[in-house]
Amino acid sequence: MPGTHPNNQVPELKDYNVYTIDPVLRRAVERGGAQWRDAELVRQGAEYGAEATLAAADDANRYEPELQTLSPLGERIDFVKFHPSWHTMIAMGRRNGITNLPYVDERPSAWTGYGATLYMNAQIESGSNCPNTMTKACVPVLRNNQALFDELWPKLANTEHDPRDIRLADKKSITVGMGMTEKQGGSDLRSNTTRAVPAGSGPWGDEFLLTGHKWFFSAPMCDGHLVLAKTDEHGSSCFFVPRWRPDGSKNPIHIQRLKDKVGNRSNSSSEVEFKEAWGVLVGGEGRGIPTIIEMATNTRLDCALASAGYIRQALVQSLHYTRHRHAFGKALIDQPVMTELLADMALEAESATLLAMDLASHFGSDDPADLAWRRLMTPAAKFWNCKRAVALTGEAMEVFGGNGYVETGPMGRLFREAPVNSIWEGSGNVMALDVLRAVARNPDDAHRVLDHLHDVASQEPRVLAQATALRDAIGLPPQELERQARRFTQRLVLCAQACLMLQHASAAASAAFIGSRFDPEWGPVTGISAGTSDPAALLRAAWA
Ligand SMILES: Cc1cc2nc3c(=O)[nH]c(=O)nc-3n(C[C@H](O)[C@H](O)[C@H](O)COP(=O)(O)OP(=O)(O)OC[C@H]3O[C@@H](n4cnc5c(N)ncnc54)[C@H](O)[C@@H]3O)c2cc1C
Repeated sequence: MPGTHPNNQVPELKDYNVYTIDPVLRRAVERGGAQWRDAELVRQGAEYGAEATLAAADDANRYEPELQTLSPLGERIDFVKFHPSWHTMIAMGRRNGITNLPYVDERPSAWTGYGATLYMNAQIESGSNCPNTMTKACVPVLRNNQALFDELWPKLANTEHDPRDIRLADKKSITVGMGMTEKQGGSDLRSNTTRAVPAGSGPWGDEFLLTGHKWFFSAPMCDGHLVLAKTDEHGSSCFFVPRWRPDGSKNPIHIQRLKDKVGNRSNSSSEVEFKEAWGVLVGGEGRGIPTIIEMATNTRLDCALASAGYIRQALVQSLHYTRHRHAFGKALIDQPVMTELLADMALEAESATLLAMDLASHFGSDDPADLAWRRLMTPAAKFWNCKRAVALTGEAMEVFGGNGYVETGPMGRLFREAPVNSIWEGSGNVMALDVLRAVARNPDDAHRVLDHLHDVASQEPRVLAQATALRDAIGLPPQELERQARRFTQRLVLCAQACLMLQHASAAASAAFIGSRFDPEWGPVTGISAGTSDPAALLRAAWA
């Protein structure tokens, strides 16, 4: 008797190596000089793709963090309870280098090795990246207070996760978050109202008591946060505010509630009230925004890397699904319209990975060319990769048909995760304006970057025309250019991606990318028919 469930369902993608199936990533690691990390990345790739890791990632998001404001005796504890799988994922990210690799290992290529890990971690579980990457990003900021830094560095450099909620002095390792956004505005930090009042000085320098609120305060179980608050004398300043005061008493940072978020649900994000919370000054009084912005530059790279990871995961899941699922007598991957769509996704994944990994390789160096690239391309890559991840994860959900829209498969979580990278650490418009600010403040940097794009594109008229248009645009009056901020940023990124494809992709892939992205009729739903005669070849190349 034939069953009532003829089976055309697709087995879960599991026990695969996230790293070794990704030829674009592996080549980027080599190009960035991080071959020394290759064997470790092979190990990590297997760990991230293992069935047990996928199950832990799922559980960390299914069994969500729970706020416990009071102890059974009615004392404030402001404690967030997590499922053990959250700690599994946090510990894995930390062990694999997300919390500190580029500062523990001072070779510039450590940034490339770090980037590869973050990109893989994001494909499997992204909530845990929030506290882990913030901890890494706080390192250059904390160096502005040497005494504090000397005390914290061994705990920041430790690769073993220590989940205990105890004072800093007793911890093996710590995590550090950031508190900037208030109710009245997150982009315009000058509107902050939290106040800091001097309270003497101690071994870590000037001490203050902070009173006010933060409307978004992710990972409140971090052992400390870098917080913006205003002093009466000098205005906006940056403070290190630990969860526990050095004397072992609880610092009065009251968690009002946890945010009920669209995605990123494994990670707790909160609203907090500071009631004379104890903190120490980091950086000059009155220099809060420039001090903490270094942390944001660092995490903007992370957003570009993680979003490239989401795009890659959208592609990998789509390829796996369409190889196994059949319709109208063929595997879906072999239906010409689907092949076309998947090839377009493969180009998007390759160009996003190249952009993010190339950006990572410019970190950790004081060379003027690296500095120029970082200044201009960090906000640009953050803008673009994060936006494209929202579109691509939605498209990949549809590749799964109805199975994409249910929580029994991987696509719902990936789709819900994508938009947050575009919002936090500077939303889209703010990033586009930041690109223009970088041009206005450092015109020599902008010329250096555009000259480089011109050189690479010299034999490719369609890309050269874009590089020339960018040069023309930076000559426009500032007000006119401001209105075009998003258009300028899009052109800059596409031009940079086309140049990276010309340099590092196969001739077929770069021709398809340039042929489609600079075709006036290309749009997010059209596929790449203008760009190549053999889209299936691009798919074969995308999965080693
Ligand atoms: C899940 C989550 C976790 C977060 N965690 C933290 C955290 O740990 N610490 C923290 O400090 N913050 C955190 N944030 C806050 C986040 O950084 C802010 O939401 C973000 O910076 C935007 O600020 P806002 O929400 O106040 O929006 P607004 O500043 O009100 O901006 C709204 C919109 O206006 C646009 N806009 C702003 N200025 C301009 C302009 N001049 N021209 C044109 N458009 C403009 C923005 O691009 C945005 O699209 C978190 C946010 C989320 C969603």
